Amino acid sequence: MDKQIKVKNITSEVKVQKPVDLQPDRFNPRNRIYVRAVSGLHQLLRRRIGFVGMLAFMLLPWINYHGQQAVLFDLIDQKFNIFGLTLLPQDLTILAFIFMIAAFALFVVTTFYGRVWCGYTCPQTVWTFIFIWFEEKFEGSANQRKKLDERPMDEDKFLRKSAKHGSWVLFSLYTSLTFVGYFTPIRDLLPDFLTFSASSYATISILVFTACTYGNAGWMREIMCLHMCPYSRFQSAMFDKDTFTVSYDAARGENRGPRGRKQDPKEIGLGDCIDCNLCVQVCPTGIDIRNGLQYECINCGACIDACDGVMDKMGYERGLIAYTTERNLEAHSEKTNPFRAKLIGYVIILVVLSSALVANVAMRKPMELDIIRDRNQLYRQTFEGLVENTYTLKIINKAQIEQTFEVIVVGLQDFELIGKTEVSVEAAAAHDLPISIVMDPFLLKKPVTEFEFVVQVKGSPDLSLAQKTNFFRSK
Ligand code: SF4
Ligand code: SF4
Repeated sequence: MDKQIKVKNITSEVKVQKPVDLQPDRFNPRNRIYVRAVSGLHQLLRRRIGFVGMLAFMLLPWINYHGQQAVLFDLIDQKFNIFGLTLLPQDLTILAFIFMIAAFALFVVTTFYGRVWCGYTCPQTVWTFIFIWFEEKFEGSANQRKKLDERPMDEDKFLRKSAKHGSWVLFSLYTSLTFVGYFTPIRDLLPDFLTFSASSYATISILVFTACTYGNAGWMREIMCLHMCPYSRFQSAMFDKDTFTVSYDAARGENRGPRGRKQDPKEIGLGDCIDCNLCVQVCPTGIDIRNGLQYECINCGACIDACDGVMDKMGYERGLIAYTTERNLEAHSEKTNPFRAKLIGYVIILVVLSSALVANVAMRKPMELDIIRDRNQLYRQTFEGLVENTYTLKIINKAQIEQTFEVIVVGLQDFELIGKTEVSVEAAAAHDLPISIVMDPFLLKKPVTEFEFVVQVKGSPDLSLAQKTNFFRSK
């Protein structure tokens, strides 16, 4: 009983086994995705759409309309020129309609065809693919780029990297100059910037946007789509069983595995996927579409082209990865329903909004009128016993040319008007016109008499605006 139990001293320090981080750190440059180039129908379409979009972006600010920049968003003077249309802060409804139409157009497209906006037209995608094109020109294919990055620095690597980054910076600079040219007249901006005489506002904007373009398209790439783009987060709310998305047909592809070209996959218990991983290597967001629908997928179709190429080589039918719907995949016999309530609802709203915008623009007058009364004094008694009321007419010329306006008083008789009744206002500018009306108070039946100021474009009585106001006399 007096046997002692041996006691072993142990350290109080507890070692915790940290879980292995299965998700690679995307911000670490060593975990960069080396996107493999692929060709095919969808890539051709994507390149063509991207090219047209980029060309439009680059050329639009250089187009003149009626002697001035056709598209110019002048934030400092608070006026937007869109060809013949000048939008001022008073035209907020038109801008609101434009934004709502853009949002609902995106909803319609997303509900019908998933994130094709992201894959084919989003500037982030278009610019990323342009930067990858430069990368390929100077550093070679995906495998060559990976090897180059793993290699220690030498003269060849230094020259290739310098050429790549130089081309990225130049392209970013040109992109930025064009972008700022939508907000500052581009025909002045370019020579001013090149001769270092641009305003500090323009210079800082150009440098900031150059850095943003270089960072986004050169380094951030899919990180923007995965972690920063809000659209990727809420787009799934628009998806339903009939939305066309890039999907892998697991029923046909599984079991995946390598096999000889002449072997019958069914005989060896395999599906049509040869597990070549090409669909993953060409994916700009680095995902494996065989794992099902993922929010990272931008519907670009690169994996479809890669897989179709493999299917052709193997002599299998194309479409193992395709734009298809969940309903099609679940039951191959069931047809996708393009006319569902949600989509019809979005289309109706889009049509209503577009019609309202067209009506708003069509009925828009090339001027705006605001009447401001003298707030300190409703009326003034003159030495002759007459009554004088003073007004300021704020006339805004919304046209892109100077216009002359005539002022007419309707609803008063036997009055004297003191001030100008004709005024010229510069294009997209406002003019304050002071006017006084003097009347004999015995000619007025009531203490307050309502009347109208009518402002019309000289020589065009159809282009007129009327606004009611009051004439006050003593009780
Ligand atoms: S490209 Fe096609 S065959 Fe190759 S792994 Fe992807 S799905 Fe399978
Ligand atoms: S999974 Fe396919 S469609 Fe989706 S982003 Fe990757 S390559 Fe593009």
